[in-house]
Amino acid sequence: TRPNIWALKPYSSARDEYSGKEASVFLDANENPYNTPNNRYPDPLQRELKGLIGRIKKVSPEHIFLGNGSDEAIDLPFRAFCRPGIDNVVAIEPTYGMYQVCADVNDVEYRKVQLDANFQFKAADLLAAADEHTKLIFLCSPNNPTGNNLCREEILTLLRQFEGLVIVDEAYADFSDQPSFLQQLDEFPNLIILQTFSKAWGCAAIRLGMAFASKEIIDLLNKIKYPYNVNRLTQQEAIRMIEKHYQVQQWVASLLKERTRLMTEFEKLPCCEHIYPTDANFFLTRVSNAKKIYDYLVDKGIIVRNRSNVALCHNCLRITIGTHPENDALLEALKNYKEDEA
Ligand code: PMP
Repeated sequence: TRPNIWALKPYSSARDEYSGKEASVFLDANENPYNTPNNRYPDPLQRELKGLIGRIKKVSPEHIFLGNGSDEAIDLPFRAFCRPGIDNVVAIEPTYGMYQVCADVNDVEYRKVQLDANFQFKAADLLAAADEHTKLIFLCSPNNPTGNNLCREEILTLLRQFEGLVIVDEAYADFSDQPSFLQQLDEFPNLIILQTFSKAWGCAAIRLGMAFASKEIIDLLNKIKYPYNVNRLTQQEAIRMIEKHYQVQQWVASLLKERTRLMTEFEKLPCCEHIYPTDANFFLTRVSNAKKIYDYLVDKGIIVRNRSNVALCHNCLRITIGTHPENDALLEALKNYKEDEA
């Protein structure tokens, strides 16, 4: 922990200080008493929502941090643990871009270790890149943009051997048949797991991310977060979504079915050179000319992600699984794509 964070006296929000007493007249927070219920500040610790998330994830609420997207939960560990200009973090490459952005914003050196040709890593290589100033190691499984799960044994080795914190980003874990690392929380006090409502839960717009970790780590993240980082509408909508949890499973099942269909058809296209195996709701594909195909699709109103400039992803597009008609629109457009004319 950074010394200034250790010593920090956190902001105490209006409703933190009286507790356990019944109250009905709130003249403490400079709110406007009209316009109920949006006039009142939301619960800074999102207790009701954490209770529900705890129940479905089988984790006690004191092990849960909720943030403004998992992007907030990526940034806060930098601010809690890494001294600007002194400490560093290690991450696999390629991976989700926000780890490096947060490192850069916080003036923390970002050390990349390239994945192998199967998009896998060796714990020993990440440990070799680390030194006494390495505070965090970032892993993403299933990884973005490659789509594959990282090898579980290597992650476990890292958790056992690295003295700093290992952050395992499971944003896409709901699409994978590998178990989450949530069951390992008690075993590894240096583990932070990230999950999100933005993918399988279909709630990218409400901005709700989750971090699961030891009580000590969660207390630190809560200490430095903005007081009301998850707004009332978000908390309310997430509660509503959890109450109809079954629909998420149906969505995942449909998307996995669509993924198989789209990948099977995509592979037959003349422009497709290779499709990488995936455990997520997207796949990475090497095509004949990523830039041309990307521009051609934009012209047809279809947006995919061009990952050509990313390490190991030369000429690669990352394609999200859409609805049946959306996937058909992509296939139809690419059937009409001619390399020379484009
Ligand atoms: N982690 C990964 C691996 C992602 O791909 C994304 C979104 N693209 C995020 C985290 C951020 O998700 P959120 O919407 O929860 O901020």
